[in-house]
Amino acid sequence: MSVWRDVIGQEAAVATLEHAAGHPAAMTHAWLFTGPPGSGRSVAARAFAAALLCPTGGCGTCRECRTALEATHADVDVVATEGLSIKVELARDLVQLAARRPSVGRYRVIVVEDADRLTERAADALLKALEEPTPRTVWMLCAPSVEDVIITIRSRSRHVRLRTPSVAAVADLLVRRDGVDPAMALYAARAAQQHVGLARRLARDEHARIRRHDVITMATKITGVGEAIGAAQDIMTIAAEESAAASTERDAAERTRLMEVLGADPSARTQPPHIRSQVASLEKEQKARATRFTRDVVDRALVDLLSVYRDALVVRTQAGTALVNEDSRQVVQRVADLLESEALLRAMDAIGTARERIDANVNPLLALEAMALDLRLPR
Ligand SMILES: [Zn+2]
Repeated sequence: MSVWRDVIGQEAAVATLEHAAGHPAAMTHAWLFTGPPGSGRSVAARAFAAALLCPTGGCGTCRECRTALEATHADVDVVATEGLSIKVELARDLVQLAARRPSVGRYRVIVVEDADRLTERAADALLKALEEPTPRTVWMLCAPSVEDVIITIRSRSRHVRLRTPSVAAVADLLVRRDGVDPAMALYAARAAQQHVGLARRLARDEHARIRRHDVITMATKITGVGEAIGAAQDIMTIAAEESAAASTERDAAERTRLMEVLGADPSARTQPPHIRSQVASLEKEQKARATRFTRDVVDRALVDLLSVYRDALVVRTQAGTALVNEDSRQVVQRVADLLESEALLRAMDAIGTARERIDANVNPLLALEAMALDLRLPR
């Protein structure tokens, strides 16, 4: 057992981190973990935290290791934003926390999972802590790429780059850690394009597999304007359903908890103003979370859709590369029969443009409609 067991396909990064954990001279107070979504940035950061706190450098079984990995250790704080940005208020809280000495361990570790979502003011606030580091406090910032983090933060952190793990490595993790059947694990690892969290969900949730299949078959069904508009609407519906499934229960529980804290009667028809304003601010937060979640699901659907055209291109050019949709070869073959290579490239461009537009805050439905119109099959 080792604390690095779930950090898969990252030999170079693990070597660097292991060395730093074991050699104080190689240690520094700020680290920047970059890698594509699902490559395990947060998993790697937690493993590093455990290695720093474990009396034997990361055994993976002692109390320090286990609690650090779960982020329940008193000296490990993991900040994950579910809204669209990390606000300056939160950054200031973190800076205050960073100034405190570790309570039980050798280090205090603060992991910021979405450092790319720091607002400019939040990043400035955080920068002060990086410029005047507190001894024994370690920052671990995670982002998709170095370009996603302001240069002043970048230049004060040591960079650890994670790669996309191999299909085999992801499948192996699902079998070993989650007890998934090997054939299912292989399908899920491929279909999720090695995104570990998504692969796990695909392997364990039949609805997720059905939704994914619905998305990839769209490529064979968009024959006219009506179908295009329908496909765009379908993607939004799928995203909204997933978002609702993920949040309804949690939103209600949060509301109940807030009412309890405020000593309000949840069944009362009208609430006093101070309670109303607290509830309104919670609802605003929940809405931001739902917006981000829906957007992420839409983006994921587009990545899935893109994979069919890319696979069709592989089939047409007989490139011999492994297909993402190996399990749905018939769909891929049909798309390859319907569209020439150039048309496939245009389709991939249209999907890329839609992703960029949505990322730039264009109304998702409008961006999807424009895309779907470009995906119409030749008559
Ligand atoms: Zn340990």
